[in-house]
Amino acid sequence: MKQYDAVICGAGIVGVSAAHFLAKAGMRHILLVDERPPLSFTSDRSTECYRNWWPDPAMLALMNRSIDLMDALAEESGNVFRMNRRGYLYVTADESKIDEMKAASDSISKLGAGPLRIHSAEAADYQPSHPEGFHNAPAGADLLLGNDLIRKHFPYLTEKAVAVLHARRAGWLSAQQLGMYLLERGRRLGVQFEAEKVTGVDVEGGRVRGVRLGSGVQVESPIFINAAGPFLKEVGKLIGAELPIHTELHLKAVIKDALGAVGRDAPLLIWNDSQTLPWDDEERSALAEDPETCWLTETFPPGVHTRPEGGGTDILMLWEYHMRLMEPVDAPAMDEQYPEIALRGLAAMLPRMKEYFDRMPRPQLDGGFYTKTRENRPLVGPLGAQGAFVAGAVSGYGIMSACAVGELLAAHVTGAVLPEYAPAFSLSRYDDPEYRKKLENWGDSGQL
Ligand SMILES: Cc1cc2nc3c(=O)[nH]c(=O)nc-3n(C[C@H](O)[C@H](O)[C@H](O)COP(=O)(O)OP(=O)(O)OC[C@H]3O[C@@H](n4cnc5c(N)ncnc54)[C@H](O)[C@@H]3O)c2cc1C
Repeated sequence: MKQYDAVICGAGIVGVSAAHFLAKAGMRHILLVDERPPLSFTSDRSTECYRNWWPDPAMLALMNRSIDLMDALAEESGNVFRMNRRGYLYVTADESKIDEMKAASDSISKLGAGPLRIHSAEAADYQPSHPEGFHNAPAGADLLLGNDLIRKHFPYLTEKAVAVLHARRAGWLSAQQLGMYLLERGRRLGVQFEAEKVTGVDVEGGRVRGVRLGSGVQVESPIFINAAGPFLKEVGKLIGAELPIHTELHLKAVIKDALGAVGRDAPLLIWNDSQTLPWDDEERSALAEDPETCWLTETFPPGVHTRPEGGGTDILMLWEYHMRLMEPVDAPAMDEQYPEIALRGLAAMLPRMKEYFDRMPRPQLDGGFYTKTRENRPLVGPLGAQGAFVAGAVSGYGIMSACAVGELLAAHVTGAVLPEYAPAFSLSRYDDPEYRKKLENWGDSGQL
């Protein structure tokens, strides 16, 4: 029987980060087990963006820590995972939203996201972001008011935009490269990988003793870490734990933006207003007549977003106009209308998108699962039996939070001092009746 100090189930970004931080904390015999190749499931599907701009103070603190850790890794590796700091740009054409935008931004700024600077058309002391790299970027956020000022810096945006909020400690990176860097560094410190399915966890006298693998191999280990991503619940059951999570399917489309509707140096662009999709009169009445398609003429929610990807003309397009609760599967059915709907939605913010309506570029469509708790906070900490831990439920923020989640998990396992935000993410938070009550009216989770 093989012996390890810890077994981690799942080699997504969370599992590899947990392995890295445990190895860094001095643990030497760590086994990372995954039935799929490392970083090939949800962690391969993301938009790869990050931000510290969160309305929940515990999430904001976690992301600030994660970005500190990513900055240090980028520094030491020569930015092997190509992290940029272009920011997130939230755009509105609705004058009546400006006060609300100011108030929400002011509150996030005060929670520790950095200063809020407000620029009117006259005082344009706004510092644009560098397209590449992460150095010398301002913290906090800039609120730009007035279309002239907005289009001076973002000429591809609609003439209707009246305010944009540019969150600055934000941008994107290569999630594969970050994950591979963490995995390689872990391997150099002794982390081993097995391509296997975890099928059982042995517990005796309330303590973890080992893990059973699909091949029949048994592994002895006093520590078991459930980092199974969308299968967190299923793997939790192996240890008798019922995890309060659900999974949602989220899609993403990629097209070639040959016309340059999105500036190649753009930040992540998010349309903050609800809208009805642009159809011509004939299309609209045909869609409205058919009960199967009339929903396409109704109001769509805010949040359609896009960003340029890579050195060519690719852009990513995302829009959660439908919430799809679904059990995780390898190859979920795709909504073939998604790319056209996202593209039409983006036209509200990026007028040149209209030029694609008659000749839509051929899209690539993929998707993955957000694994979520009710309040969209992750689960990181002890899990039932002594020696069992969970790290996951990282929803649509698993790439950006992976480093801080891995570090927090390692602190739980090794008994190191825990950061202030630790209790907000531990499973035991649900034991508190006050917390459970708060969940009934939990506000905006800030999730895209
Ligand atoms: C469309 C989309 C866009 C996104 N955009 C962003 C973004 O911009 N920024 C961001 O931060 N996050 C984003 N995310 C979220 C992010 O991708 C996830 O939160 C993150 O990848 C989850 O990582 P994970 O390690 O928990 O899960 P996974 O990557 O799914 O890894 C879990 C692993 O566990 C393995 N496993 C499960 N059960 C077993 C078992 N019994 N035995 C062995 N192995 C097992 C699986 O094979 C899998 O490899 C996005 C997600 C989607 C779907």
